Amino acid sequence: MHPAPAADDGDPAKPVSRPALRILFIFALTGLFACQEKTASPTVSPSPDTVKTTEKKRDGSILPDGSSKKKIYLTFDDGPNKGTRNVLQIIREEQVPASFFVVAVHSTDTRQQKETWEILRADSLIDRCNHSYSHARNRYNSYYENPAAVVEDFNQAQQLLGLSNRIARTPGRNIWRIDSIRHTDIFESSMAADSLYAAGYDLMGWDIEWTFHHRTLRPDADTGLLLRRIYNLLESGKTRTPGHLVLLAHDQAYQKETYLEELRYIIRQLKQNPAYQLELITRYPGIRKSREL
Ligand SMILES: [Zn+2]
Repeated sequence: MHPAPAADDGDPAKPVSRPALRILFIFALTGLFACQEKTASPTVSPSPDTVKTTEKKRDGSILPDGSSKKKIYLTFDDGPNKGTRNVLQIIREEQVPASFFVVAVHSTDTRQQKETWEILRADSLIDRCNHSYSHARNRYNSYYENPAAVVEDFNQAQQLLGLSNRIARTPGRNIWRIDSIRHTDIFESSMAADSLYAAGYDLMGWDIEWTFHHRTLRPDADTGLLLRRIYNLLESGKTRTPGHLVLLAHDQAYQKETYLEELRYIIRQLKQNPAYQLELITRYPGIRKSREL
């Protein structure tokens, strides 16, 4: 909040002699300049460093002590499916950024899924990324044995979905290939991962997954436990990139109102924490811009 400008409290109706007016004018000018010095007027050109800090402060990423806020990336996999619109509704109501890793074949499976994809595609608050065309048909071991076919599967998804970034997530595997980060949870998938990276895809794994029971859709961890895990990972610097945490969740887990409200609770807790900032996955450090490919 800026203070309101000082009101002009002079009395123009009172007659004043000409020399006295001149003295008053000089005093007024002196007072004006003195005032500008004290309040550090924004019309004075700031140094480049000042500009940089001010810009950072404006986007809310800097804490009062000058340190950066820790970033949390909400990512949702496997849509479009029956939970996708619910997740999107929460994202819109809470006005937070989120990223959807889409399975291309799910965008055409049914009329409802096609419509959901159209809604996802038109939303400006989210990122849409590549989670393959086929999702390996859930046969992960044989899928990753053929690196060329894996690249083809992702290319097919990229083309069908018309994505504007080349961030991808491998089905059934927590694999990272971003800048200097290289991590593969199951060694046999390494060659396929390297081939995807060579084909221009940045592979985004996750730091923590909010798992759920696939039949009952019940989340495996309650909200309190999940939040504690998130805080612990971030504060201990044990995420893949310190100060940045990628949370994996799945659209289909939020078909039921109860679990959808748990998601809302998590989002509210994270967005209300002044030390954290929710962020789109395209802003994760080290993601290649298309001109670098
Ligand atoms: Zn998946």
